[in-house]
Amino acid sequence: MTDVLDTTLSTLLPASDDPAGWVDAACRADPEPDRWFPFPTEDFAYARDVCHHCPLRTRCELFARATGQSGVWGGKEFDRGREKRA
Ligand code: SF4
Repeated sequence: MTDVLDTTLSTLLPASDDPAGWVDAACRADPEPDRWFPFPTEDFAYARDVCHHCPLRTRCELFARATGQSGVWGGKEFDRGREKRA
């Protein structure tokens, strides 16, 4: 079951310039990784709340913008690096 988590958030996060830093990610090993990739009609309150308590929040958001990520990063939802919802 851990493999499922490792192929979603955990495989995206180490793509940053400081993979070791992502060990502090609040979403690491979260039991519901799909919550970071909501459908357009779905709210992302769960992911936003986890991100709110994450020490990497600012870095995460900047990473998403700089590398064109989609999904919830730093408590905001992005589509190919563009902020969709906050
Ligand atoms: S800010 Fe959110 S998505 Fe980014 S590492 Fe922290 S918990 Fe994960």
